[in-house]
Amino acid sequence: MNWITNYVRPTINSLFSRREVPENLWSKCPECGTMLFHRELTDNLQVCTNCNHHMAISPRERFKALFDGGVFGEVSVPEPVVDPLQFRDQKKYPDRLKGAQKATGEKEAMLVAEGELGRMTVVAAAQDFSFMAGSMGMYVGNALIAAAERAIAHKAPLVVFSAAGGARMQEGILSLMQMPRTTVAIQMLKEAGLPYVCVLTHPTTGGVTASYAMLGDVQIAEPNALICFAGPRVIEQTIREKLPEGFQRAEYLLDHGMLDRVTNRKDMRDELITILRMLSGLPPAVAGDLPAPDAESLAPAATDAPTTGEPQS
Ligand SMILES: [Zn+2]
Repeated sequence: MNWITNYVRPTINSLFSRREVPENLWSKCPECGTMLFHRELTDNLQVCTNCNHHMAISPRERFKALFDGGVFGEVSVPEPVVDPLQFRDQKKYPDRLKGAQKATGEKEAMLVAEGELGRMTVVAAAQDFSFMAGSMGMYVGNALIAAAERAIAHKAPLVVFSAAGGARMQEGILSLMQMPRTTVAIQMLKEAGLPYVCVLTHPTTGGVTASYAMLGDVQIAEPNALICFAGPRVIEQTIREKLPEGFQRAEYLLDHGMLDRVTNRKDMRDELITILRMLSGLPPAVAGDLPAPDAESLAPAATDAPTTGEPQS
């Protein structure tokens, strides 16, 4: 109608609407509510810079932060039969799988990789909670067995990062059979005398806790990770008692002897290098032994022999 409606109001509106930044640039920490810039969060390995809350990280992102120079090769996993029970709830199981594949860009709930960790060949497997709650079906079983077999073939240690809601109910008894299968795979690894380290991430529950995730030579967890077989709500309803504060969380389990360590994600790489070298009977890594990605070609040849050191003059 006049200058105010034609000019002032649109300007004010545009100023306000500009504040609605694209949502994908920011994430809100579920623990303390701080708004975190996406890149900042990625740089900090999906850990809140304000309260140290560990959020979910994809297996690929984790491996990039784990292996020397972020370089790793994927280990192929034999494909199981898809949907043998022709299971259907609100959706057909194959449709659910396709949806999860589209959402995560991954084939299944576990990624197996091989690479160098502190210049030592290591096989690692990581579970993806965003893929159907990281549930353990036949593919995950096959993946863990493939990882163990690869580790044995290359005489390398195996590190597993677990995250799971349990067994995959759409595969019924076949998913439960992955518990003994993976247990046997870990046993093969132990018979070969190779180290096996479990890193339990939030949440590790159900059949995964009851099989390979609890069989490590060293059991590490990320801070505040929920680790349990039956969840706290189920237990509370069954025993009709209030559970203690922090029950089934990493720190509580460490205090009660179920875990060996609780380690921040940013310290995980160094800690795994130390532990794996120790279990393999190698001398401790020296800082100069861990090259930066582009400095690798310039660095002197790696030696696994004890550091003799240059003659000091
Ligand atoms: Zn936070």
